[in-house]
Amino acid sequence: MLLVFLMARKGFPDSLDLQTKLNPIENVLIGNQTQLTTSDLMANPNKSSQDITSLEEPFSLVLPKPDEAPVSLWRPPLYPTPWAISPHDHFYFSRPIAADEINWPLANYRYGYFFPDSDIIHTGIDITAKRGTPVIAAAPGTVIWAGYGLYYGSYNEEDPYGIAVAIEHDFGYKDKNLVTVYGHMDRVDVEKGQRVETGTQLGIVGNTGFTTGPHLHFEVRYETNSYYRTRNPELWLSPPQGWGVLAGQIKTFDDYYILLQEVYIRSKETNQSWMVLTYATNNINRDEYYKENLALSDLPAGEYTISFAIDGITYKHDFTIYPGAITFFSFREKIGFSFKTPTIQTPEDWENVVLSDDFLP
Ligand SMILES: [Zn+2]
Repeated sequence: MLLVFLMARKGFPDSLDLQTKLNPIENVLIGNQTQLTTSDLMANPNKSSQDITSLEEPFSLVLPKPDEAPVSLWRPPLYPTPWAISPHDHFYFSRPIAADEINWPLANYRYGYFFPDSDIIHTGIDITAKRGTPVIAAAPGTVIWAGYGLYYGSYNEEDPYGIAVAIEHDFGYKDKNLVTVYGHMDRVDVEKGQRVETGTQLGIVGNTGFTTGPHLHFEVRYETNSYYRTRNPELWLSPPQGWGVLAGQIKTFDDYYILLQEVYIRSKETNQSWMVLTYATNNINRDEYYKENLALSDLPAGEYTISFAIDGITYKHDFTIYPGAITFFSFREKIGFSFKTPTIQTPEDWENVVLSDDFLP
């Protein structure tokens, strides 16, 4: 069943794409919450409102340059986990590296990228840390894997995860299991079956498995403990207090996700900037609600500008990051931005989703 699912997944566009193809214009406007109608847009494609902006500064190619990652190790303490101030947020995990160490995702190799020079999809985030730095449990649970062989399912020193730990957590999300994975360690300090609490030392940062240098690979898996059931950890790790997360969709006019789009985020208050790429592939799991192809965590609350260029046209928009929450946007080429939250899918919507009943391996 799993093989059937995987083959089908590789061969089909995203299930959402199939649905939206049927009626692309109506879906452009993010459900029925917008005040603009299809005929408005047809009549005047540059019409703008609070939520839909027209193209700005056509043919401008001036994009901000991202700064280096912040050098200070200081950041506010995390919100207590589980943290969720909206029914769609799920900041259930604390950081797998202690707060007094650098513990944000490596900027140029996030979830949804390809491993360099390969077709292996990156299904987690990488956190750089010195060899020997303690790796700690992100939440309470039970160790279900410790050592070599996580990917293959049995002891194998060639395993891409190297020495790894997987924890099945005491809690789930919407009645489905949650598992976190910690890879590339030099040593494990726990054994299979052991109970752990948030902060229990699992091992130390190392360089085992498929790596180009010492770091921690961290994954969130949903529903089953499988490489094919990951979610973007940046939407699951509790933010530092007063900080928030950006998640978005960047799509073509025809409603296809745009891959590997360079996106620039700049704080209007501090001028600090970030560059983030959209996911490199459609064969990556997205959040059920946000259906994102971009996520950027660890943004101090405040006013920001997002900008990017497609075919020589620069698009930009201002937005707000709220403390302890996800700010969501969607963008459609030739239409513009919307900061409305997604329409909630109903079970009737799901009937059209490819392989919905054959989902479980
Ligand atoms: Zn990794």
